[in-house]
Amino acid sequence: MLKIKKIEHLGIAVTDLKHAAALYEELFGLKVFREETVASQKVRTGFIQVGETKIELLESTDPDGPIARYIEKRGEGFQHLALHVENIDDAIAHVRAKNVRTLTETWSHGAGGSKVIFLHPKDTGGVLIEFVESKK
Ligand code: ZN
Repeated sequence: MLKIKKIEHLGIAVTDLKHAAALYEELFGLKVFREETVASQKVRTGFIQVGETKIELLESTDPDGPIARYIEKRGEGFQHLALHVENIDDAIAHVRAKNVRTLTETWSHGAGGSKVIFLHPKDTGGVLIEFVESKK
């Protein structure tokens, strides 16, 4: 059964993670508490805690990676909405039963040892949605 606990994070595509982190700190006093390279997604991520949820700053590590291509098409800015699910396999089965496609066949390892998968934005009203099951 699908159980969504909260918005895990909002993903923001940036060209320069250090610069973006400095901007959030200068403007809002919000600090990146964890930086990590996620090879499977060709990104370097920086997470900022905001109450119960987070902002994920995403810098591409590859000129052909999904974030580089996104910025090329639309510029920097809001890129995806991540929902925290209790069990990612159940969540995938739930949306597949409703004919929602996923961008990969199975989940992959995301930041912080989590399991993640992205849903096809054409099947979700134009929003790129990520399911995240955090490390137990
Ligand atoms: Zn994300």
